[in-house]
Amino acid sequence: MDKRDIKDFTLEEIKKAVVEIGESGYRAEQIFFWLYKKGVCDFQEMSNLPQAFRSKLEQDYYISALSLAGKLSSADGTEKFLFNLGDGNFIETVLICARNRKTVCLSTQAGCKFGCVFCASGHGGFIRDLSPSEIINQILFLQHRLKHKITNYVFMGMGEPLDNCDNVLKAIMIMNSKSGMDIGARRITVSTCGVIPGIRRLTDLGLQINLSISLHAVTDNLRDTLVPANKRYPLKKLIEAGEHFTKKTGRILTLEYVLIKGRNDSLKDAAELEAIAGRLKAKVNLIPCSPVPGLGFQPPSKKDIDIFMDKLIQGKIKVTRRESKGRDIQAACGQLAGRLKQKDG
Ligand code: SF4
Repeated sequence: MDKRDIKDFTLEEIKKAVVEIGESGYRAEQIFFWLYKKGVCDFQEMSNLPQAFRSKLEQDYYISALSLAGKLSSADGTEKFLFNLGDGNFIETVLICARNRKTVCLSTQAGCKFGCVFCASGHGGFIRDLSPSEIINQILFLQHRLKHKITNYVFMGMGEPLDNCDNVLKAIMIMNSKSGMDIGARRITVSTCGVIPGIRRLTDLGLQINLSISLHAVTDNLRDTLVPANKRYPLKKLIEAGEHFTKKTGRILTLEYVLIKGRNDSLKDAAELEAIAGRLKAKVNLIPCSPVPGLGFQPPSKKDIDIFMDKLIQGKIKVTRRESKGRDIQAACGQLAGRLKQKDG
């Protein structure tokens, strides 16, 4: 039997496997402690496990780690890490430091199949899903190798998290496990372009997790062109799924809205966005688009952004404006990995 990556398994799964080989279930908690609280990469370092058990684990499992292929630091404190997956593919993880927060932006797929027009990951095409361990290892590298004290975790890097739902939900369970990383669900945000079946599964998980929907347009016609997933998951149904999420979890939804000059930044767009956000009792996060080389999108002027924002505020919508972080290091998802693949190709 091929060795399996032990970080691909939840606590419950490890417990079951441990009991099957005749050990006590609490050994799974000890394994989780070493993997996630101590960040060890060698079963022999798990010093409170019997030697014979460590050797048995070594026979059946291995402990993966990501290898760093590059790092860029922005003048504004944002750091971008490029990880080599070991199969010729690369993913990016971004660490955003703002005020007293350190937010890690996690990738969930190598590439992406959804093709949002302003996104570099979408333009590079889809390569493959990340395993739970490849998702978790992005955090472990920053926490244990680089000693960063991360406060917030967002699934907003390369890939659509809810298109890799099994592995992302498993990673969230490992992150949330008290015996492991012990990350409170309220500090985790899943961002989706609108994959409705995934939103429903996340809702049913029953965790106090945050959901963020990348809306970017308020009519199906425009959203079909900016966020092609809309053709499969149209606005009306997406809004219903969002409503179901807020009702069932009691969590406040965030609507992400990338402002693109001349495309979705009119007062009419603002009025419709106000209506949708009002219905969902959602916060709106306005993001002036990052110019992506070759795509031709530009952010609106500061004055136009202010007018758009004021319209929402007048409608009593809670609205924030996210400044583009790390522009000097191309921190929008997929840009660095995309360039690296172009060079390789
Ligand atoms: S914005 Fe997200 S879902 Fe859309 S193409 Fe980029 S990575 Fe994929």
